Amino acid sequence: MPLKFVQSQYGNPMLIHDGYVYTKKSENASGTITWRCKQYSKHCCRVVVHTSSNKKTGSIVGDVPNHHHSADISSVEAAKVKANLKKRARKCDDLPSVLVAKSVKNVSDSTAAKMPNEPALKMLFGI
Ligand SMILES: [Zn+2]
Repeated sequence: MPLKFVQSQYGNPMLIHDGYVYTKKSENASGTITWRCKQYSKHCCRVVVHTSSNKKTGSIVGDVPNHHHSADISSVEAAKVKANLKKRARKCDDLPSVLVAKSVKNVSDSTAAKMPNEPALKMLFGI
């Protein structure tokens, strides 16, 4: 199964696995990457996973411990929508306002609740 990544709003890579989101913690000399659960601060979750690389072709190394909190699929979706929007804003000729409207139209209500509102999104992407 290929690895899935999205970019955070600050441009940092995040790993998505089984509905959980991880932020990059460290990378060792052999290229193995350690990812920390994004809920580290919110839920004090100490789960870390390791991947063989930061590419889609990489794989999870070792076991993935259980989280003591539930997966946050809507956060994952919101992160994907935001990343997608950023990509399209860069290469698409559509008006930025049209792009933002399009990208928030097709998400579920729970995902929409996790998204910044339209003016905030526009600011986020500098459009
Ligand atoms: Zn966790």
